[in-house]
Amino acid sequence: MNHDYDVAIVGLGPVGSFAALLLEKRGLRVLAIDRDKEIYSLPRAVSISDQGLRMTQEVDIEDIYIRNSSEVGGAGFVDENLNFIGEAINLKGFTTPNGWAPMRFFHQPYTDKKIRKKIEGTSITTLLQHELLNVKNREKDVLFSIKNLEDSSEVEYSCKYLIGADGGSSTLRKLLKITQEDLDYNRDWVIVDAELTAPNRLDDKAIQVCDPERIGTFIPAHLPFRRWEFIIYEDEDKNDFQDDKKIQELVERWLNPEEYKIIRKAIYQFHSVLAHDFRQGNCFLIGDAAHQNPPFMGEGMMSGYRDAFNLSWKISYVLNNGFSDALLDSYQQERRPHAKFVVENSAGIGELMEAYAQAEDHNDVPQELIAKGYGSFVLPNLDEGLFFEGKAKESMAAGQLFPQIVVYKDGEIMERRDDLFGEGFTLISKNEITINEVYKDFLNKLNCTYLTLDNEMIISNPWAADFLELGDVFVIRPDKYIYGCSGNDVSLEQIIEDLKIRMQ
Ligand SMILES: Cc1cc2nc3c(=O)[nH]c(=O)nc-3n(C[C@H](O)[C@H](O)[C@H](O)COP(=O)(O)OP(=O)(O)OC[C@H]3O[C@@H](n4cnc5c(N)ncnc54)[C@H](O)[C@@H]3O)c2cc1C
Repeated sequence: MNHDYDVAIVGLGPVGSFAALLLEKRGLRVLAIDRDKEIYSLPRAVSISDQGLRMTQEVDIEDIYIRNSSEVGGAGFVDENLNFIGEAINLKGFTTPNGWAPMRFFHQPYTDKKIRKKIEGTSITTLLQHELLNVKNREKDVLFSIKNLEDSSEVEYSCKYLIGADGGSSTLRKLLKITQEDLDYNRDWVIVDAELTAPNRLDDKAIQVCDPERIGTFIPAHLPFRRWEFIIYEDEDKNDFQDDKKIQELVERWLNPEEYKIIRKAIYQFHSVLAHDFRQGNCFLIGDAAHQNPPFMGEGMMSGYRDAFNLSWKISYVLNNGFSDALLDSYQQERRPHAKFVVENSAGIGELMEAYAQAEDHNDVPQELIAKGYGSFVLPNLDEGLFFEGKAKESMAAGQLFPQIVVYKDGEIMERRDDLFGEGFTLISKNEITINEVYKDFLNKLNCTYLTLDNEMIISNPWAADFLELGDVFVIRPDKYIYGCSGNDVSLEQIIEDLKIRMQ
């Protein structure tokens, strides 16, 4: 076996698997290792967002999620009698600019198995029951050793870039001595996945239960599954929550024990931590290895997917298209603040639940906590990084995702057309795009697609049309973030010159 790879990924959880597929699709030689033979069996991710689904389109796995998921009806905070505190947020029947419903609930054992199967059909070299032992960052590559857990043999490999997708207790993070910022939400929770054995009579809204006796969460997962999560207080014995009887008592206000069977349960300590560095030399951290948050926002795996999406095209532009390695510094610059928002606001939901539960009057809960808890429903744009002049700009929508172009029939989306953007950068406009000859070589090196939206597309894509009102030609990155747009103040030539400097 050749022991030299373009990219090696430690950890084939959902985030490492997604990264492996993205990098392989871009023609790179990928090695992926995991110490476990089977996929993780305990209850974890249950929701995928609109952006998550849009990203999965890139490697044709969106159907795996769609076939095995349901739209979320809504979300909100309720009191001990399960009455909404304030308004519930209605999520049903909406499509976002990403071309998908805001959130869907899926059953992870099914999706993870299908994605593992998809990996088996690619050129990715997979070594299961192998564990990362040592790593050495060198000037132009990484040398690392792994142990075969079946026969205890050890082998050395090298790769240009090593990605740690090895979860919350990341070995790579520890080997590199990367420390973490602790945002101070550390609580024990028990998670219960149940399968209904009787017709469903529960609502389709995800609720945060602000009960002074015990805060919790109910998730109307993809039928026939339902999920509950309950806090375990410090003076309680965690072992008591391993007992199904105890769980049945907690679930009693929703269902009688005859109406469901418990299929999986797990006790987790939820953390809110963030690695100080997402990159060290030629090594990168993605997913839970880089950031962990309590799951209340349903965005942990999504944050990891965003990491994989952000990093993979940049690595391929360095290794395939000959751009500078410095391009990869924008990974941490762009992703860390965004991941921090998710960590902070996920913890914010937990804090708001506690505040509502403890308040004599819900109106007494500080606005700041309410803003943080509800603020989590709207994700920020990217701020600093690979954008015109290095910073997001409202006036040219830089740092924002360009909407997905969709085709409707009878009010239903029939086609999602991110493929129109090609696999590299895209120049998009409603007018014909003319390019000065001097930039052609550079734009070819960017693998650029030129897209003029015709009238029909503009009329049926109001979100894209609104963006196009802001300027003339939009420069879109391969991850669909807007780099900048030309207009009255800035010419297309200035944008391309700026991009040239930042990419080389
Ligand atoms: C209760 C709960 C509910 C959640 N709900 C959601 C949700 O609805 N939506 C959402 O987006 N997120 C959710 N999350 C978060 C989500 O589950 C995680 O963010 C996600 O699983 C992280 O994926 P990962 O691939 O980074 O890490 P993991 O899934 O932890 O995978 C890491 C992999 O690395 C392997 N590994 C570890 N060390 C080594 C080593 N030394 N050598 C080789 N292999 C190694 C492990 O075997 C494992 O396969 C939830 C989390 C919890 C706990």
